[in-house]
Amino acid sequence: MNLQPTQASLTELAGALASKTISSVELTTLFLDRCEKLNPLLNAFITLDRTATLAEARAADARLASGETGPLLGIPLAYKDIFCMQGWLTTCGSKMLANFVSPYDAHVVEQFKKAGMVTLGKCNMDEFAMGSSTENSFYGPARNPWDTRRVAGGSSGGSAVAIAARLAPAAVGTDTGGSIRQPAALCGLTGIKPTYGVVSRYGMIAYASSLDQGGPLAKSAQDCALLLNAMAGFDARDSTSLARPAEDYCRNLEQPLTGIRIGLPKEFFAQGMSDDVRAAVAAALAEYRKLGAQTVEISLPNSGLSVPAYYVIAPAEASSNLSRFDGVRYGYRAPDYTDLSDMYCKTRAQGFGAEVKRRILIGTYVLSHGYYDAYYLQAQKIRRLIADDFRAAFRQCDVIASPTTPGVAFEIGAKSDDPVQMYLSDIYTTSANLAGLPGISLPCGFGAGSMPVGLQLLGNYFDEARMLNLAHRYQQATDWHLRTPEGLSI
Ligand code: GLN
Repeated sequence: MNLQPTQASLTELAGALASKTISSVELTTLFLDRCEKLNPLLNAFITLDRTATLAEARAADARLASGETGPLLGIPLAYKDIFCMQGWLTTCGSKMLANFVSPYDAHVVEQFKKAGMVTLGKCNMDEFAMGSSTENSFYGPARNPWDTRRVAGGSSGGSAVAIAARLAPAAVGTDTGGSIRQPAALCGLTGIKPTYGVVSRYGMIAYASSLDQGGPLAKSAQDCALLLNAMAGFDARDSTSLARPAEDYCRNLEQPLTGIRIGLPKEFFAQGMSDDVRAAVAAALAEYRKLGAQTVEISLPNSGLSVPAYYVIAPAEASSNLSRFDGVRYGYRAPDYTDLSDMYCKTRAQGFGAEVKRRILIGTYVLSHGYYDAYYLQAQKIRRLIADDFRAAFRQCDVIASPTTPGVAFEIGAKSDDPVQMYLSDIYTTSANLAGLPGISLPCGFGAGSMPVGLQLLGNYFDEARMLNLAHRYQQATDWHLRTPEGLSI
């Protein structure tokens, strides 16, 4: 077989490593060279550390040499810089943690190390995962390899850029309101946010704890399924981690789609999306009908309230989670201050960026006496109504389809002065987080400016294997997921 490492699937890479066609050090060096060459342009990584990465690759080669095999053993992986990793800078995209070297590994990192994956580097992201474009990163925006004047989406934008530009075969992100699915859509990748509680949040820096969930980004659904097999699992250190029997997320990939009912929420399709996105999604739905699925109209009557409810609940939780960054325990401390209170104020004023401050203020406001009932409690009630809408909808269908984003990637700077416009990028994604449901985004064509369009599928609780099945069958019938941006010497 003629191996093309930058285009190969994880299964092909694992095969090449097992048969000694390539070593982990060779494979890793190839990706590291690409990272070092292209990162100055794309800003996908905050931290690259060739020495540490190659040490992991040598350890993987030793495991391979001893006869060990595994579907991910020896394959490089890029991490969103929100995952704590022992000995590595873990910045969360913030000046506040610009000097923070984690003393321990996140559960997800432990799982991938056990599987023998090699850490390629830590990826750029919106500060504390707050954003939809990676423009809120203290380290500057990541650039979309399909058009470097445009955003990559966010907040896991660096992870998406790394794969789309073939600097990494796969990556890990987190999704609080769309941050895996949205950058996957804008960069032409597949990304899955699992059911809340399937992936441990231990060591994943908290933004909004009741919504945050880690998940994989990759070139295909099959690759995502393999990564999810390694990531998922009970962890007693996260009190919301679910103790469930282990699942093989690859088990249903090949199943035919005959009789599958795809629900189309009339509220999502009524308005709000651009014409190019509408056309690509319509063509994808036609392809699904050819594959044997049926489409049925459904209703999610409260979906219009998901963005407002999300932007009350997420900042409320963030205002509490981010109180730990006070200049005392770790991270940044203002150099000059008069007393303790002055030190807190100056540290937080200097260490946090504008969007993070905005959310801390909103969160503190909606939780304060007199406003709690008016905002926070109302938002929680809406959250329940949204979950109830899905419960009713899943009586009529097996999965729910929509675009992932209302438009293709926009130009860097186009929405930076208008937070509400930026928040509206999340109209199709936030409801899954509010309800705790799994969601996947997969490439389904190209729109304005030849930029990728993503199709979102939402599933019922723990129905990841079925969603991956739908995505995989579509990817067998189409080649959108195999397209690569031009001009990056791929
Ligand atoms: N774009 C959303 C926000 O700004 C979602 C972010 C995320 O999922 N981490 O909060």
